[in-house]
Amino acid sequence: MMQSVQQIIRKYQWDKTRLMDILLDIQEELTYIPAEALDPLSDKLILSKAEIEQTMSFYHFFSQTPRGNYRIYINQSVVAYMKGQADIIKAFENELGIKMGSVTPDGDIGLFGTADIGMSDQEPALIINNQIFTQVTPYRVRELVADMKAGKPVEDLAVRAYGAGKNSDPKIASVVNSNILRKGPLLTKDYTPFALLKEKLTGLKPEAILEELKKSKLRGRGGAGFPTGLKWEFCSKSDGKERYIICNADEGEPGTFKDRNILTEMPELVFEGMVIAGYTVGSKSGILYLRYEYKYLQNYLENLLEDMRQQNLLGKSISGIEGFDFDIRIQFGAGAYVCGEESALIESMQGRRGEPRDKPPFPVEKGYLDQPTVVNNVETFATVVKILTKGAEWHMNLGTSDSKGSKVLSISGDCLLPGIYEVEWGFTIQDMLDMVGANDTQAIQVGGPSGTLIGPADFNRSICYTDLSTGGSMIIFNHQRDLLRDVVRNFMEFFIDESCGSCSTCRIMPVIMLEKLDKILSGQGVKQDLQDMEDWGSVLQASRCGLGQTAGNPILCSIKNFPELYEQYLKTENTFKSGFNLEQAIQESCKVVGREPVIEHQ
Ligand code: SF4
Repeated sequence: MMQSVQQIIRKYQWDKTRLMDILLDIQEELTYIPAEALDPLSDKLILSKAEIEQTMSFYHFFSQTPRGNYRIYINQSVVAYMKGQADIIKAFENELGIKMGSVTPDGDIGLFGTADIGMSDQEPALIINNQIFTQVTPYRVRELVADMKAGKPVEDLAVRAYGAGKNSDPKIASVVNSNILRKGPLLTKDYTPFALLKEKLTGLKPEAILEELKKSKLRGRGGAGFPTGLKWEFCSKSDGKERYIICNADEGEPGTFKDRNILTEMPELVFEGMVIAGYTVGSKSGILYLRYEYKYLQNYLENLLEDMRQQNLLGKSISGIEGFDFDIRIQFGAGAYVCGEESALIESMQGRRGEPRDKPPFPVEKGYLDQPTVVNNVETFATVVKILTKGAEWHMNLGTSDSKGSKVLSISGDCLLPGIYEVEWGFTIQDMLDMVGANDTQAIQVGGPSGTLIGPADFNRSICYTDLSTGGSMIIFNHQRDLLRDVVRNFMEFFIDESCGSCSTCRIMPVIMLEKLDKILSGQGVKQDLQDMEDWGSVLQASRCGLGQTAGNPILCSIKNFPELYEQYLKTENTFKSGFNLEQAIQESCKVVGREPVIEHQ
């Protein structure tokens, strides 16, 4: 065991900033990170054990106890729940004879839950080791368990019918589907991969690229919408020994899966965009930060990067441009939603807990390894290539006056045709519902749990930066859904699980807001409880990053747009009710001492 650990540390050249890779490799090889590994890690990386333990304990996919040769992670997102995840959990628990969060007595199979795995269009879904299984049924669970008990390799468990699109490529070989159901300006395959690098780059000056991007009015597609041309310009003008280009492929917002599809179907577009960014800002290194849930794409993407090296599209003097050296590596996360925030992602890439940094300075001045860094998401890099191929004017003619271009949406939930749809900015919510075959819609979660929950009164609104802005997640709920119990509770639990815990507001407020929601749902709530939740929600604005600032949104938006859902539970008198049930609270203690609870009611 220790020999493996030593070899892994050597593979990464004793570089402490590669701690994430080192821990991932140890976890992969040993199925957990044993306590004995701490000594060599600490000695060789010159890190304290506390620093290593801090990183290990932060990420969902790291474990300090054995998790089994087969590690099953069942998606616990709201869409998974809607599509029958409870039956899948029950089936696994029955077949394995264990509860969620445990390992079979022989240590062979572990059963765990995890946050959204990016498969909302094909739930219920789960991961076994690095393989994804989608649209799982209880029958399929019995088959999977029988195969695991028979000792089949994980790759063989997956082989049934491969999913649509490039998922049947032997380098992916996955049952995942690429459900691209509407192609627009970005997803239409009207470009030749790498033509820009091969034919145009030599004639383009970095300043001309910046001007074209600024003219195109391209804004980041990750949600914040910062102008891409400006971001690249700031980075190119910042002082530093090195500059870095990071592609954020950590799409962890529940309900989002568009980047997975773009990386599967058009990865050339993304890598080409990263190379162009490198050329423009004067960088030699690009890093694709890929969420661990998409590890099944690793071989496929690494293979493409190797092809690019063979074609001199990565490496030294790219496309014959003297002095333009650039390469891309893939960095995996290990399961932490907050790492979607750019500075948390950078911390993670340096081997630390994914805790967002205070800003300023922004990554364009002081990012990866404290050097100027561009962080853009998958869709943004891909769009850059289309803009530089077709011209800023082309992009300016798409969308609305203040939101130019198109948006790739991940649409899931209660609709006939969940999948990927590309629309021009300005598309209305009602058109979207008609497009995906959604009837009887009660509500839509726009932009994931951190976004907004809207009802029919808002279905005439538009998807754009100045109206309903979104990173791409759209989850539809019909009237059969209990919005407060099934949706809002799920989202609040998600934020509580995913908070990095650094700010007291983000650590405390969502917990007490959820307790208050439960009090209301139990019939003990009064009007003042709604006011309390609204007040506490505004305190969350003081949090350091977007996670905390938006963690109250599920409750705040539902109070605003669906007040009747709360009112049905409220007691009519507005007197204080603690919601504390003394009888229930002392039940366990009474059981221990063998007494009947005796409560004196006044
Ligand atoms: Fe961490 Fe939450 Fe503070 Fe963000 S807001 S830094 S997630 S505690």
